[in-house]
Amino acid sequence: MSKDSKKPLSTWNLNPAPESTEHIKLKEQYELFINGEWQKPTAGLYFDTVNPASQEKLANIAHANDADVDKAVKAAREAYTNVWSKMSGKERGKYLFRIARLIQEKAREFAVIETLDGGKPIRESRDIDIPLAANHFFYYAGWADKLEFAFPNKKVESIGVAAQIIPWNFPLLMAAWKIAPALAAGNTVVLKPAETTSLTALKLAEIIEESGLPAGVVNIITGFGDTGSALVNHPDVDKIAFTGSTNVGKMIQKSTAETDKRLTLELGGKSANIIFEDAAIDQAVEGIVNGIFFNQGHVCCAGSRLFVQEGVAAEVIQKLKDRIDTLVVGDPMDKNTDIGAINSQKQWESISKYLELGVNEGNEMYQGKCAIPEKGLYFPPTIFIDVAQSSRLVQEEIFGPVLTIQTFRTVDEVIQKANNTPYGLAAGVWTDKGSKIFNVTSKLRSGVVWANTYNKFDPTSPFGGYKESGFGREGGLHGLASYLK
Ligand code: NAP
Ligand code: MG
Repeated sequence: MSKDSKKPLSTWNLNPAPESTEHIKLKEQYELFINGEWQKPTAGLYFDTVNPASQEKLANIAHANDADVDKAVKAAREAYTNVWSKMSGKERGKYLFRIARLIQEKAREFAVIETLDGGKPIRESRDIDIPLAANHFFYYAGWADKLEFAFPNKKVESIGVAAQIIPWNFPLLMAAWKIAPALAAGNTVVLKPAETTSLTALKLAEIIEESGLPAGVVNIITGFGDTGSALVNHPDVDKIAFTGSTNVGKMIQKSTAETDKRLTLELGGKSANIIFEDAAIDQAVEGIVNGIFFNQGHVCCAGSRLFVQEGVAAEVIQKLKDRIDTLVVGDPMDKNTDIGAINSQKQWESISKYLELGVNEGNEMYQGKCAIPEKGLYFPPTIFIDVAQSSRLVQEEIFGPVLTIQTFRTVDEVIQKANNTPYGLAAGVWTDKGSKIFNVTSKLRSGVVWANTYNKFDPTSPFGGYKESGFGREGGLHGLASYLK
């Protein structure tokens, strides 16, 4: 890697390597998947879903209103009472295995649609989102007939109808995180994807149809925040699983306060990545880049705050600058792309506001010298150096490819600073010393702490937050427990 940071290394002249879209099947219009059927929305309303990279329209999506939500919850209730809660775990597991295999069979189509609709690089959809979604179904399929072994000496029982609401940053993966454990535990589901990324959830509905899952066990309804709100407030919902912003999470918590609905919230984050002087610096730099620029920083657990021990700060910052110059920003469908398109105009504007704020505060800013396409929603990898702990850049979730850097001297100091935000979702620690890893990780108030790696996911390990990052865990046995009494 060149030390000459003035030379944009992304001019490596990589030939375009776009993934083909010829093999995908998209309908012009998608209806609501209720009670095993594709039903037209009661009010006859639809909205567009667009490709954020090209701004082209991909399909019409149905907008569900209160009446549609009611139909979906009723279908889920009937399926729960008459079919699913009576079925043996072994039979339930067979359906989950079938769904997992069908996702694998259609993985290429899923990856392309995920990238077209959401703007994330095809490499990520292909290598991370889709395989992990299938793995979640495989993993929970295995538990469906072993619940009494999963929780020994406890009598476990399903909860009932689960309302599940997901965000736009990992559309299919979040749907899998929610649906697979709910079904394995014997619940039925009404799921609402985010308005900008409904397509892979609707493709999942097609797979569910193909799998022969009894009607009403999974219902997928599309729409905006009003649809989500109608679902959360429906009186016949027993459990709510929400992943999204802390603001909406707080509203949901308030609205369920006087009910006996069970609630899990997976909310925002402002995760710290900590590099000690004894760390393997090149690996750490790669981990930092992966932690924040992966998926355009549209990651709840993005390592958006970097803490570097003083002795290696200059070296780390220089290496980071050199590295982000080489990142490829552009067409998400190109297999060489590292940073794809920002998911929506609204999100792009929000990131831009933080950039302006950071500059106005007088922070030192560095942006990767990589070329940015003129058309479409793109944002260069950006770092702010020596930002104050009190800055809004350090305290608030930006949800974009923007990293703040702070330095520290002692272990106690960095633990205090890392914990000093309203969030507590994830953290990363880079050091050569095992004892330091155990010491620091046990003191960080974060649901997940990675050591000498970042953004590693596995269906067997639980994920979730402290403080304003929410409560409840998804993944692993913890994730199963939240769908059981
Ligand atoms: P969001 O605005 O809170 O939306 C999340 C979902 O809630 C969407 O489906 C949204 O529908 C729906 N919704 C909006 N208003 C609602 C209401 N009043 N009642 C019920 N549902 C409502 O979040 P986002 O901007 O899509 O996602 C980004 C956020 O998600 C970030 O804060 C990120 O950290 C967080 N996140 C957390 C995790 C985690 O595991 N902790 C994982 C991924 C993302 P519309 O799309 O139609 O508005
Ligand atoms: Mg879209």
